[in-house]
Amino acid sequence: MDMSFNNVVVLDQDPKSLPRVARALRPFGRGILWAETLEDGLGLISEARPFLVLVSSDLPGLNGPANFLETVEPSSPKTRVIVLAKDPGLDEAMDWVAQGIYAVLAKPINPERLRQVVGRLKEPGRSPSYQGFATPQDEKSLLLYRSLAGHQNSGPLLESLAQTARTLTGATRAEVWVGEGFNSPTRLADGDEPPRGSCEVTLEMPWRGNSLASLKLSFLNQQSLDALDPLTLHELQWVGSLFLSQAMCYEQAVRMASRDPLTGLFNRRIFLEQLDREYYQSHRYNSPLSLIILDLDRFKAINDTYGHQTGDGYLKWLADTMDLVTRAGDVTARIGGEEFAILLPRSDLDQAQVLANRLKEALANNKIPDGLPQIRPTISQGIADISHFLIKSPADLVYWSDQAMYLAKRSGRDAIKTLVELPGQRKIEDAQYAFQ
Ligand code: GH3
Ligand code: MG
Ligand code: MG
Repeated sequence: MDMSFNNVVVLDQDPKSLPRVARALRPFGRGILWAETLEDGLGLISEARPFLVLVSSDLPGLNGPANFLETVEPSSPKTRVIVLAKDPGLDEAMDWVAQGIYAVLAKPINPERLRQVVGRLKEPGRSPSYQGFATPQDEKSLLLYRSLAGHQNSGPLLESLAQTARTLTGATRAEVWVGEGFNSPTRLADGDEPPRGSCEVTLEMPWRGNSLASLKLSFLNQQSLDALDPLTLHELQWVGSLFLSQAMCYEQAVRMASRDPLTGLFNRRIFLEQLDREYYQSHRYNSPLSLIILDLDRFKAINDTYGHQTGDGYLKWLADTMDLVTRAGDVTARIGGEEFAILLPRSDLDQAQVLANRLKEALANNKIPDGLPQIRPTISQGIADISHFLIKSPADLVYWSDQAMYLAKRSGRDAIKTLVELPGQRKIEDAQYAFQ
């Protein structure tokens, strides 16, 4: 038996699915390993480290697909798991997908659908967004799946849902109303304003007892609504829910991975990504770019005197004040424990100094939040900009802003310094001018 890395393992006590699975996966040239018990299957998985496992949800001893995934991951972390289920319930299937199952397919398996899901899995660089469960395969279902698959963010997904809903149902207008938890407008419409006397139907998109969104469809009259296949409405509702819930999980995950939980500012990783992007953009368009690095003065003393929780309160206050004085397009980040950065696209050194002063003023004058002791920590700020000849990379920009910040510390703190004030910098510059 071929035990190469690229096998597929199927766990199903009913061997009737085997011919269908084999047929579906033939184009990929895979070896299929079959197990009828959980124990045999886990043995095969740890030996074969398959790229794909299909597991029947009614396999004795399974104890839920999410548990199964946890058992598989340590021995074969790259394995994707597809659950095969008879009449999977919507909530149940969405839960499995949210817990990391790649897709849920209805039994009996539709070979074409399985082939599509696996084909997508094998395309390098494509995200596994074709999650979902199999529906009776017809043109309409495919159109619905294709238009919703691939949108990881809720904005484009909702737009697509409105458009597709209109195409599928022949409605004159489709409107999506979005609940909380999405980074998108509350209402998206596709089609013309419905004429007087038109007839409406509203579909809720359920997820864990809440409605993620409502889809309002308007028809010319009752007859055109009655002529509609109820299955189409049903499918719009649960496929829409499935993809919306995925988009919401994705957006939450992205948010959690890019923001510092205490302050809500970008974390260091995202800051460095943005810095790279802005640096090269600014060079390409020959526009200014400056960076302020700032650090709280004698912060350790605040922690030592009032405790860490109070210290955290001041970190949050500083972050909120940074947000207050900056404008959209500026990148505010927490790049270390009590070290922060403000990246200012399209701002030169002078403009950055103006902002640094504004921040200093705000910290000196704005109200200190209730619950914090009435002391005012100060900050030391260092500024550099890319027009200086010393700066030849994004890392140089950080380095020289940092050096300027340390100069501010040495000069007595609560100060703003720029890289041209660093000892030695003027001399080098003058030498250059003298040379020209
Ligand atoms: P300086 O003016 O030279 O910057 O003095 P400092 O005391 O601020 O500098 P130092 O680097 O000695 O100490 C930084 C302190 O920041 C150490 C640590 O207690 C505190 N700190 C770092 N991260 C956190 C955090 O997440 N929460 C709290 N409360 N304190 C933090
Ligand atoms: Mg400090
Ligand atoms: Mg520090």
